[in-house]
Amino acid sequence: MSLAFHGAKFCWMNGEVVETEKALVSAMEPIHLSIFEGIKAYAENDVNASGKLNIFQWKPHVDRLWRSAAVCGMKIPYTKEELLEATRNTIKANDFRTNVYIQPRIWPRAEDLKKVHMVIPVWSFETLLGKGNARFSKERKFIISSWRRIASDALPPQAKAWANYGNSALAMREAERLGYDGAIFLDNRGFVSEGTGAAIMTVRNGKVITPPVSASILESVTRETLLKIIPEDLGIPVEVRDITRVELYASDEAFLCGTGWEITPITSVDGLPLGKEYPGVLTRRIAEYYADVLAGKVEKHKEWLTPA
Ligand code: PMP
Repeated sequence: MSLAFHGAKFCWMNGEVVETEKALVSAMEPIHLSIFEGIKAYAENDVNASGKLNIFQWKPHVDRLWRSAAVCGMKIPYTKEELLEATRNTIKANDFRTNVYIQPRIWPRAEDLKKVHMVIPVWSFETLLGKGNARFSKERKFIISSWRRIASDALPPQAKAWANYGNSALAMREAERLGYDGAIFLDNRGFVSEGTGAAIMTVRNGKVITPPVSASILESVTRETLLKIIPEDLGIPVEVRDITRVELYASDEAFLCGTGWEITPITSVDGLPLGKEYPGVLTRRIAEYYADVLAGKVEKHKEWLTPA
């Protein structure tokens, strides 16, 4: 597993844009209670072209960052408007004109745990989506992890706390060790929960099904977006309910969805191929439409885009 997170030349730290390599803190800082958010900005009109950048679903991402901070007992010493300005300045300093991943991070300061450090690293990235994109159709074989998704009586699954991601990393390492591309968690009741950093949706008999928040999932912004556009814009019925392991095996299609994973189709689970066609017909349709929404091509959803 590699974490190709080298960041861009400039990031924002504690109130100013600085060179990433100078954004340093002491190795003695407490890191176990840190939180973060993962947000993407897409180039308008063509998901891989240079041009105007729009941040997708800025408000729900930032609201979740504030909720994560509250759950972990931290207070963010900036306003949401200041955070937007900081993000814009960081993107501008790097002269990014293509898709940008934005990852605000917050953690308590060693000298006073009530105070925090805040940094906003950014990366450019290539989207998985886009018509005919080979990366979208690449096969991905998943396993059900032997690690269960963290339960909400131990860690907060609905917060983006780094502590939760030890759970994801163990599941990914297990999958890679066994020769798979990724892992799906069951929750502590044994129902399907989510991927290691993305929500899961399955397709059965023309209907999209996804687990509820009570299945220990993160309240995914992408999942919420898809739960709106799949029925309202594409006319495909959706159902939010618990999914059993056997139902997942018997799905016609399944895909992961999230800011990082965008829409990632799943070829097989535990060696059992899903459906007849890969990626499945509905997965492809949903992904193509979602790519248009991200690229600002769907007029009525431009309200989800904030100029970067
Ligand atoms: N679950 C987990 C554990 C995640 O880390 C993510 C990525 N933020 C998601 C689901 C998907 O959430 P979103 O659509 O808000 O990116």
